[in-house]
Amino acid sequence: MKITVAGAGYVGLVTSVCLAELGHEVICIDIQSEKIEQLQEGYSPIYEPELEPLLQKNLIEGRLYFTTNPRYAYTHADVIFIAVGTPQHVDGTANLDYVYDVIETIAVHIENDVIICTKSTVPVGTNEKIKRMIDSKKLPQLRVEIVSNPEFLREGSAVVDFFYGDRIVIGAENEESARVLENIYQPLKIPIIKTDVKSAEMIKYASNAFLATKISFVNEIARMCEKVGANIDDVTYGIGKDQRIGPYFLKAGLGYGGSCFPKDTRALMHTSGSLGHHFELLEAVIKVNNRQKSFPVVKAKEIMPSLKGKKVAVLGLSFKPNTDDIREAASITVIKELLQEGASVTAYDPIAIKNVKELFGDSIDYTDEIQTAIYHADLTIITTEWEQIKQFPLNLYSEYMKEPKVIDGRNCYPLEEVQKYPLLYVSIGRPTVVKTLTNKL
Ligand code: NAD
Repeated sequence: MKITVAGAGYVGLVTSVCLAELGHEVICIDIQSEKIEQLQEGYSPIYEPELEPLLQKNLIEGRLYFTTNPRYAYTHADVIFIAVGTPQHVDGTANLDYVYDVIETIAVHIENDVIICTKSTVPVGTNEKIKRMIDSKKLPQLRVEIVSNPEFLREGSAVVDFFYGDRIVIGAENEESARVLENIYQPLKIPIIKTDVKSAEMIKYASNAFLATKISFVNEIARMCEKVGANIDDVTYGIGKDQRIGPYFLKAGLGYGGSCFPKDTRALMHTSGSLGHHFELLEAVIKVNNRQKSFPVVKAKEIMPSLKGKKVAVLGLSFKPNTDDIREAASITVIKELLQEGASVTAYDPIAIKNVKELFGDSIDYTDEIQTAIYHADLTIITTEWEQIKQFPLNLYSEYMKEPKVIDGRNCYPLEEVQKYPLLYVSIGRPTVVKTLTNKL
C-alpha cells in the first residue's frame, strides 16, 4: 500500500519507519527541511530506542522516503496519516493550525481517492470539520474518507509500542475505510477496536485524562503518607495488587509532563467547558500536577535557610527516561524556581542537554556526568528516574557533595539502601532519612 505520513516528529517518524518495516511503501513529509535532510541521511532527529537502525534498514531496502515536497508526498497516496503537532494555545485549547494546514495542502494535491487518517490528538468533532474542509477544496470527482486513528505510543518505548501496543482504535464513518486501516495493522495481531469517529476521538482524551488522574491521585496519597509517616511505595504496591486497580501508573513523583498529558487534559477541560460541563475532577488533577512540580524547591526551602548562592545539581532533564523530550518536564519548573531563589544550577542528563540549552542558555551549567553535577554541590535534586541515576552509587553523594542533601523527586533509591549512607534524603511520600552529615570538602 502507498502510505504518506504528514509530520516527522515522535509519532510521524515512528509510524513511518514501522509501517515501512511492515512492508508498505512510505513517504514521510515534514515542513522542516533540516529534519528531512537528516532523515534522508539515515539519522534520527529525535532519540527513541531502536528507531535509528530500523530507519536505516528501511531506507536501504527502498521502502521509506523523506520529503518536503507535497506534490511528491500526496498526489498518489492510498492512505495519508496526519501526525503533525496539536500544541496548546495559551488558554489551553488545542491549536489545530498545523492539522488544517496539512488538510489544505492535501486537498490541492491529491489526484486519486484517498483515506485520510488522523493520528494527531484532536478534540471531538475535529475530524468532522476536516471532512467538510477537504470536501469543499478537493476536486469534486475524488472520494476522500476520514478515519480517526488516535495514537497511544509512549515516548521512550515508541517502537515497541507500535509493534506490541495494547489496542488500535479505528473510528470510521463506514466499514469499507475501517477495513483498509484494519488490513494495514492486521499483521501486528494487536486487538483492534472499531468505533464511530467521535468515540475514537474521545477514547484518546479519556485515556490520557484517566492516566493523569491516576498520577495525581497517587501524588495526593503520597502527601498523606508524608504527614502520617507511611511509605507510598508500600501503599501503591498494596493497592496495585487489587485487580480492579492494577499495578500500573501508580508511581508517586513530580507529576506528569511531556507533550501529551498536560495539553490533552487542558484541552479536554476546555471541550467540556464549551459544552457547558464543568469537569471538576479533571480540574483538580491538573492543579495537583502543577503543584507537584514545585515540590523539590518547596522542600529545599524547608531544609535550607536560603538557596541564594547555593550550588544545586539537578539530575534528569527529560520529562521521563529514555527520551530527549523536555516538553513540560518537571526539571524546567525546578530550574526556573531555583534560579528565582538565586541558586546556581548544574544540570545533568544523558541525552536531553541540547534541548534544555535552548531554554536556559548560559544561565545554568550542563554536564552528562553525574559526578561533575554533584561535585561540591549544596543540594541535589533528582527530577527524572534515568537508569544512570538509579544505578549511581549512594556513597558518592557524601563523597562528592559539599553537604550530602538529596531531594529525590522520583523515589529512585530504596529507603533501606539510603539508610546505610550519611545523607539527608527527602523523597516523595516516604519518611525523610537523616543520617549524620559529614563535611567532606
Ligand atoms: P512533534 O512536535 O514531535 O512533531 C510534529 C511534526 O509535524 C514536526 O516535525 C513538524 O515540523 C511537523 N509539521 C508541522 N506542520 C506540518 C505540515 N504542514 N506538514 C508536514 N509536517 C508538518 O509532535 P508529536 O509528539 O509527534 O505529536 C504529534 C501528534 O500526536 C500530536 O497531536 C500529539 O498530541 C499526538 N501524540 C503524541 C504522542 C507522543 O508521545 N509524542 C503520543 C500520542 C499522540
